[in-house]
Formats: sequence, C-alpha cells, structure tokens
Amino acid sequence: MSSGGGIQIPSRLPLLLTHEDVLLPGSTVRFSVDSPRNMQLVSQRLLRGTSLKSTIIGVIPNTRDPEQDSEDLPTLHKIGTAGIAVQVVGSNWPKPHYTLLITGLCRFKVSSLLKERPFVLAEVEQLDKLEQYTTSTTEGATAEDGDLGELSQKFYQAAVQLLGMLDMSVPAVAKFRRLLDSLPRETLPDVVASMIRTSNKEKLQVLDAVSLEERFRRTLPMLTRQIEGLKLLKKSRKMTPDSEKRVLSIRKGGTFPGRQFSLNQDEDSEDDGDDTASLEKKVHGANMPEAALKVCLKELKRLKKMPQSMPEYALTRNYLDLMVELPWSRSTKDCLDIRAARVLLDNDHYAMDKLKRRVLEYLAVRQLKTSLKGPILCFVGPPGVGKTSVGRSIAKTLGREFHRIALGGVCDQSDIRGHRRTYVGSMPGRIINGLKTVGVNNPVFLLDEVDKLGKSLQGDPAAALLEVLDPEQNHSFTDHYLNVAFDLSQVLFIATANTTATVPPALLDRMEVLQVPGYTQEEKVEIAHRHLIPNQLEQHGLTPQQLHIPQDSTQDIICRYTREAGVRSLERKIGAICRAVAVKVAEGHRLPETDASTSETSPQQEDKAAPPEMPIVIDQMALKDILGPPLFELEVSERLTLPGVALGLAWTPLGGEIMFVEASRMEGEGQLTLTGQLGDVMKESAHLAISWLRANAKTYQLTNMVGAPDPLEGTDIHLHFPAGAVTKDGPSAGVTIVTCLASLFSGRLVRSDIAMTGEITLRGLVLPVGGIKDKVLAAHRAGVKRVILPKRNEKDLEELPANVRAQLDFVTAGNLDEVLNASFDGGFPGAQAHPHVSSKL
Ligand code: ADP
Repeated sequence: MSSGGGIQIPSRLPLLLTHEDVLLPGSTVRFSVDSPRNMQLVSQRLLRGTSLKSTIIGVIPNTRDPEQDSEDLPTLHKIGTAGIAVQVVGSNWPKPHYTLLITGLCRFKVSSLLKERPFVLAEVEQLDKLEQYTTSTTEGATAEDGDLGELSQKFYQAAVQLLGMLDMSVPAVAKFRRLLDSLPRETLPDVVASMIRTSNKEKLQVLDAVSLEERFRRTLPMLTRQIEGLKLLKKSRKMTPDSEKRVLSIRKGGTFPGRQFSLNQDEDSEDDGDDTASLEKKVHGANMPEAALKVCLKELKRLKKMPQSMPEYALTRNYLDLMVELPWSRSTKDCLDIRAARVLLDNDHYAMDKLKRRVLEYLAVRQLKTSLKGPILCFVGPPGVGKTSVGRSIAKTLGREFHRIALGGVCDQSDIRGHRRTYVGSMPGRIINGLKTVGVNNPVFLLDEVDKLGKSLQGDPAAALLEVLDPEQNHSFTDHYLNVAFDLSQVLFIATANTTATVPPALLDRMEVLQVPGYTQEEKVEIAHRHLIPNQLEQHGLTPQQLHIPQDSTQDIICRYTREAGVRSLERKIGAICRAVAVKVAEGHRLPETDASTSETSPQQEDKAAPPEMPIVIDQMALKDILGPPLFELEVSERLTLPGVALGLAWTPLGGEIMFVEASRMEGEGQLTLTGQLGDVMKESAHLAISWLRANAKTYQLTNMVGAPDPLEGTDIHLHFPAGAVTKDGPSAGVTIVTCLASLFSGRLVRSDIAMTGEITLRGLVLPVGGIKDKVLAAHRAGVKRVILPKRNEKDLEELPANVRAQLDFVTAGNLDEVLNASFDGGFPGAQAHPHVSSKL
C-alpha cells in the first residue's frame, strides 16, 4: 500500500534509532533516550521546534545496540513508524537522558539517508494512509471483498472472543472493548498486536507487513495463541483480575489524529496493572476502619482511570501505599510484670531512684487498669541523664515497640499533623510516619525535647501536639495528609525536656513533670563502671580482659575531661579510650604504661579464668596520651586571688554551672557598665546590688578609689560575667554581685572556696531561688567547699545525695549581712553593727 491522498507526514524525517521496543501505528510507547544521536535529536529538534510538524519523527528499529554505534551508523530496519512525540522528560540521574512518549501514526520506508550527524535525517516514503484512521466509519474494512474481508471478520471475532474470556469490570478490559468497537477494522492488527503479549520479533513482523492482508494474516495466530493460552489457564485455575491484566493491560493515554484512544504499550505497564490489582487486595486486607476504606476505594477508582504519566498518579499511589501500610489494627500484646520491670529498670539504670519509683507506679496502675487515660510523663533534666534511656526501658518492660520523635526545632504544625495533599511534596506528619515505621498501633512514642518546639507563621506545633496528647481527642487524630481519623489512644506517649520554662503552658498542663537531676561525681563513677564501660567495651569488640579502666582514672575523666550534669560526654571519652585500645589490641601491642597498675583487676575479670593476656590498664599517663591534656583544671582558687571577684552558681537547662563575677573600677562619672551577654533581670540585679551597697556604704566602710564614703563618687564600675557566649539571666546572681562589689569597694578578697546563689531585694533580704540541687552539684564538681544559699532553700538540701551533703559546708542566709559575713575570712567589718533585717515575707 502506498501513500495516496489524505494527511501526509513530512517527506524528510529525523530518525530515532531504537533497539528496545517496536512502535506500531496506533500505539504509544515510552522510549528512553541516551545514545548521542538520539540525544541530539531531542535537544536540537524536538525541544527547539515550535510547530506540530516538528514533533513528528520517524522511529526505526535498529538491529544493533546504538551505544556501540556512536561512530558508524547502525544497520537500520527498512521500515519504521512515524510518530508524534507527545511528551519529553529530561533527567540527569543516573546519567543524562530523556524519556520520550511517542504515539505511532503510520509506517514509512527509508528512501535515502540525508545526513547522519548530529542526528539521522532521511528522505522517507509514507506507506499507510493516515485518513484511514480518521474515518469514523467501520464500514471500510468490512466492505472490502474477498480474502481481506473474511480475514478481518475472523480477526474481529477472535478479538471479541478474547474479550469474552476476560472480566469486563477490569478497566483495562473495558477499554479494550471500547477500542474494538470504535476503531476502524484495518487498524486492529497494529493496535491488538501492541496490546496483547507479543515479542519484539513478532512486532517487527507486524511492522514489516505493509499490506493489510498480510498484517491480518500475521496477527491472527498471535491472537489465537492468546485465546488458547487463556483457555488453558482457565482450566487450571480460576481467573483472577490479576491474570486478566496479564493478558492485556491498558495504561497510557495517546492521542491519535481525529480520534482519541488509549492503549497499552510498555512492558512495565503490565506490572502496573498487576500493581493496582494487588494494591486493591492490600486495601481490603489492611483491616482499616470503614471511613478509611471508603476513602481508599474512592482513590483507587480514580487511580485506575488515571494515566501513569499524570503527576497526580504518583501522589495518589503514594497515598494508597501509606494507607495500606499503616497499622490500623495491628498491635503488640502487653506483657507487663511489675517485678520484672523493677529488675529491668534497676539493671539498666543506676541511681535515679525517685524517677524509677514513679515509673513503676505508673506501670503498676497500667497493669491494673489497661485502658489508662493517665497523665503523660515528662522527664525534665539536663542532657545525658538517661531520660531517653528510661523511655526505652519502659517500652522494653511493656514489650512494646519504641519510637523517638525529635521535636527540637519543629516550628511548623504540619510537621506534626502532615501537609494537605494539595501541596507538592506533601507528606504525613511525624506521628503517622512513626506509626508506619514501627508497624503497630500501640508503640511507646518518646516526644523528645518538647521544650524546643518553635512557633512560626505556619502554625503552632504545640497546638497540634495538644490534640495528639489529649486522651479525649486522640482516638480520632486526623493527619492532614491522611484526611481520615487514626486512633492514637493505644499509643503510650512519654515526653522529655531540658527545662519546663519553655514548654508551652497548655502542653505542660497535660503532663506530669518528673525531674531528672544531674549526677554527682560518685554516681557517675558507678554509672561508668556498671553501664558505660561494659557497653562501650562491647560496642568496640573488646573484653574486660583486654581493657581495664580503674576508678581513679574514671574520676579523672569525670572531673578533668568533662564538665556536665549527665554522662554523655563521659560515655564519649570512654568510647575514645576503647578505640585507642582497639588499635593496640589489633596491632598486638600493649600501651607501655600498662605495667604501672596491672595488679588491679576488674570485677568481671575475677569471675573468669586467668585472662590470656594482661589487660591494658588506663592510668593517668595513658589518659593523657589518648585524650590529650586535661580540658578543665580546678580553677576556682586560682581565680579568686584579687579583690572584686566572686563565684556564683547558675542553673542552665544543661545542668548547674559555676559562674565567676568580676568587677573593676576606674575614674569616671559614676557609670555602671555590664558585659557578658546578660538578660534584663540580671541587669536589674546589678543595679539593686549597687544601690544597696551605696545605701549601706557607711556601715560597711565602703569607699571609692580615693577613700570618699560614696563608692561611686568620681568612679565608673565595670561588672563582667565571663565564660561563654550564653545569655545569662535570672535573679539568682544577686548575692554574688553584692559580694563581688563589696570585695571591690573594701579591697578584701572573697574566700577562695566559696560559691553562692540567691536573689536580693533593695532592703537587703535574700530570697529563695530554684535549681538548688543542680547548682550544688556543680559547686561540688568544681571543688568548692562552702556554699551560701537562701535560708528558705534549706529544705532543698534534703534532695542532695548524702555524700555531697557531708562534703560541703552550707551557710543559709536570710539577709545580705549573713552573706557577706560568710564570704570573707573573719567576717565583714560593720556587719555585726548593722541592724538585723528580718523578713516579713
Ligand atoms: P538524655 O535522653 O537524658 O539526654 P540518654 O538517655 O540519651 O540521655 O543517656 C545518655 C547515655 O547515658 C545513655 O547511653 C544511657 O544509657 C546512659 N545513662 C544515663 N543515665 C544512666 C544511668 N542512671 N544508668 C545507666 N546509664 C545511664
């Protein structure tokens, strides 16, 4: 058949050389383009052209791999299919390539090659008449007489028979049916050959069949084969919608001049058909509540109708995948035994008795009343004190899955509640994501760092969390992405924070705060030997026979290489030692210093038979070798050698800290300069302190630089709070500032072993402050011997470990006289003479 009238394709066509798939007229195929010539064709022709004509290219199979033919032109098949490029997608990953979606129009024959570079351009001769496809009548073929008419009738009947064996409720089959009825008969061989299972070789034979009769003759056996295969299959087992799609599947939309129809082309479109069917099965098997199932089925229905190239296809697909993965009714069975829980908590954690007691109470109540809508526990304390670790133990004792949700820096409520699906890149929130990860609906969720939740224009995440944590509401928590309710009532939430000050009040109200204070030096040594060292040894593949860290060295690490309330950096240092020793062990060497203390043996070692080798013992020398020179020296006594320096105690979310306050004076006009990143409250404390000292200058014989009775006369004062670029605020530095200035104005040294904390009033009273335990522990860590506290904080001393209480000397002060008296050796002159101020508060 040669080209007659009707629509003509251009006589000069750029050629796309393919080796992976055969394009037949009436079908749409996706081609991946990455060979140099084809890439040039896309970039120079398809992407530059503006007219419809420029999107028409010739697709011609070649018999060799084009990658190998970058120089010589490969052998081209003599017949190809002209097609319209309906979509071009470029990508750089994993290498630069394009993906072309091409709809076949008609056959052509290459008359002569015009050029080979940068892409192949050929003079072509059109072989099929295009208007055949555009005539709406189906009479054309049936009207043909003789063999052809008979053949086409046979072919049509075979196609109808095939259809009859398939399930019409499968959309792909329904589409096939529609096409069969609406397409002209002469187009059927091409269309059907590209829809049913055929090899590339068979498709090539169909392509080569230029005469219509020949085409029918070649495709009819393929169709019959399909029918026979199906019959056999039906006999052997009952057909499922899956197998229907294996026979044919319809996926992509391709436009055809004059008529619209969609056909299956790609190999992987079969998988797609399978996929939606298996997805449907999964949806039914996911055991979701009715409302969710309804939404899923609706989405599934939409998905089936959608061409895969549509961006929404992926969106809907991801959504459905998530829905079927969520643990709607999957849960673990609680296996709570309070006695075992107590043993486990004790085994995993040293000290923290108060916390462990409360956790056991909580668990006991849960055991008695399984549907506990109890408070949400919130562990508050400095980093590295074991908050997360206790949370993990709770999950372990309950036999539940554990998942940590880090909330630090979350300032968008969609982080919690998900993005609506209308957004590009929308996704579910962290709660739903967490459920997907653990795969059960009753895990322990640790909401880490609730004090670091932010706020932004995108809404308040704390408000979303409120809904999550509220037992009255969380049985129908609606994530924006899911858009259906998910029952969170079985989830056990535990929160952690460094401070309650920045936890949103409404959230705090829902939680029971359990303070987890820092550890004393002795507790840290115990934790290190019972937990951290054995853990680190195991993690580094070492045994106690290979490495031994004596208590003295642990103590050294704690006070000279770390300064923290928790034990995290202690754990890191032990890790560093393990790594260094691992190298030595691997090399078969031992540290030279080991001999010094080889006589020491670890408890574990005693239990075992004689070790094959002496352990590498970490003594002071080895410590220095591995960890470098000490990071912290006990500097307190060195720094308190001048008048105008005092040591305060501060509380930070990271635990207690010691804080030096320095003052100096110079000639001036009575101005006060404050430096060291201070907050407003701290600045006010400084002004209060100066006013009180000026008011009482006579009593205490405080003078300015030249001995005049007003300390500020002709004098400027500079107060500085060194150490760190951290903003310091809070009223508790009041007594320290007074002591520091009293030292400056009197020229006397503050005792070098004393630290203090307390708020002051203008009348010289000392008011109670918070964080006493952490502050005292910090003083103890720093080697301070005496601590001045407000009188009304005396009760807080009970919380301190006995050994700390025994090693420190506490002075409780109700007014500033007592503070000054205790701060200077031999008291402070004039203090006794000062009338006693008693608090009326
Ligand atoms: P947090 O959550 O408070 O910042 P983690 O729970 O991450 O701290 O604890 C840090 C490390 O210290 C963990 O390896 C933990 O096992 C260990 N740890 C902390 N406190 C104790 C303790 N009392 N007993 C045993 N190990 C502890």
